[in-house]
Amino acid sequence: MQQSSTFISNFLIPLLDLIGKIFLGLLKMLIVPLVFASIITGAASIGDPKVLGRIGVKTIFLYLSTTVVAIFFGLILGNIIQPGVGLSIEGAAGEAKAAAGMVDVLMGIIPVNPLQALVSGSMLQIIVFALFLGVSATLIGEKGKAFLKFNESLAETMYKMTGIVMKFAPLGILALIAVTAAKYGPAVLAPFAKVIFAVYIGCALQAALVYSGLIMAFVKKSPLWFFSGVKEAMLAAFVTRSSSAVLPISMRNVQENLGVSEKVSSFVLPLGATINMDGTALYQGVCALFVAQAFGIPLSMGAQAGILITATLASIGTAGVPGAGLIMLSMVLTSAGLPIEGIGLVAGIDAVLDMARTSINVTGDMCVSAVVARTEGEKF
Ligand code: ASP
Repeated sequence: MQQSSTFISNFLIPLLDLIGKIFLGLLKMLIVPLVFASIITGAASIGDPKVLGRIGVKTIFLYLSTTVVAIFFGLILGNIIQPGVGLSIEGAAGEAKAAAGMVDVLMGIIPVNPLQALVSGSMLQIIVFALFLGVSATLIGEKGKAFLKFNESLAETMYKMTGIVMKFAPLGILALIAVTAAKYGPAVLAPFAKVIFAVYIGCALQAALVYSGLIMAFVKKSPLWFFSGVKEAMLAAFVTRSSSAVLPISMRNVQENLGVSEKVSSFVLPLGATINMDGTALYQGVCALFVAQAFGIPLSMGAQAGILITATLASIGTAGVPGAGLIMLSMVLTSAGLPIEGIGLVAGIDAVLDMARTSINVTGDMCVSAVVARTEGEKF
């Protein structure tokens, strides 16, 4: 008995601790190049002159405003449900920077030296520079193509690398959960149920209030008409956890069941699968608060406003593949001065959260396609 508990505390726990640390290290390795390349690609698709037409402006406006509302829901639910309270994880909290106020956030975003921003991993500055780069490269047309192609290839490579690291995730996550449970006792598991609850309630609110409201106000149809028309794509997104993979189904659903034209849907939906991730944004709001509460770091209103901005950008940069939102969450945490170890906490339940958020991501795209089509004079 004595011997086995010595084995556990002297050998097994340190080994699991090491495995967990390696997993977190690999995740951290992905962040800067992944965020940099995927935001340039996202910005390039917005800066495309074709997108900047009337339909494009309308679509982007709707995409951004629904995303901001989603993060609001996430932050409000995170503040009400307080999923991380009671977890009180120490240690890494000491490494976290003090949460920045609104003015600091605004002043800290200009990358005076972009290379330094990349080297030191200043996420907000990296994002600003990447946005500028993507739009500028698009504006010079032919001459910017080579750069964008290279960058697209870098982004693809980083997605692949993410996929490879995620293969290691089950072991890494198991190790992190085991070490946390050994340190703090099994009571730590209850807060995770609260995170799941908060994200699912948030997704339901987004569908019931925002999408239903938009359909009633602009399309002048009942929400039931909308949801029964798109349920196939919603379900496919839930099970595949990939907006990109579901694109052919969402295209067919809005064209055949809702009657949206090919002209509108073939522009709005692929753009949405790339930049519009309401569910992911909502999830990032909830999880940022969860991590702050778990590590006992108070977040001022200014810091939460900062999260609103970074989560919007993070959701734009999130690829429509399973688990991408978790990697982008690390960007939101870092720029809010929260410990990146928080990723390890969320990772264990991420798949369950990914199902709901992907379903909402895709539903948001389909809702906007119907609104844009109707305001462009289409009848259905
Ligand atoms: N899996 C999500 C999607 O494909 C992205 C994410 O991980 O948040 O839409």
